[in-house]
Amino acid sequence: MYLFKTPRLLKLLYPKLTWDIKTSGRSIFLTFDDGPIPIVTPHVLKILKEYQARATFFCIGDNVRKHPDIFEQVKRDGHAIGNHTFNHLKGWKTDDDTYIQNFSKADELLHTNLFRPPYGRIKRSQAARLKALNPNLDIYYVGCIERRF
Ligand SMILES: [Zn+2]
Repeated sequence: MYLFKTPRLLKLLYPKLTWDIKTSGRSIFLTFDDGPIPIVTPHVLKILKEYQARATFFCIGDNVRKHPDIFEQVKRDGHAIGNHTFNHLKGWKTDDDTYIQNFSKADELLHTNLFRPPYGRIKRSQAARLKALNPNLDIYYVGCIERRF
């Protein structure tokens, strides 16, 4: 288990992004990135179902293209869907046009207002363009820790 606290400086540099979620009580927000992945995602779905828990799945568009049946299961089980780009791009190492196109390609499959940049890294210019593209887009950095399978 990881406990993660976002560096304050990042919050100051990117004040318009979603860093915290206010709740009326004690809550745990479960998020899963990089899916849908065979074996792993169905296993996670099974456990969530056992606990009657809902989560947000930040999906990679290319994985949705490869595993549409698992993606449909995630939606059918009532979980929220988030965009995690089509090819899991690193924002800091990708030019803005390529990044935006890759986001949009994933959005064609995902249709969501939630976005978590892979590796938690995105340029200010990219975030601004995404917000211009979709003013309702929530860009999440909450507890973003990348693990590759
Ligand atoms: Zn990721």
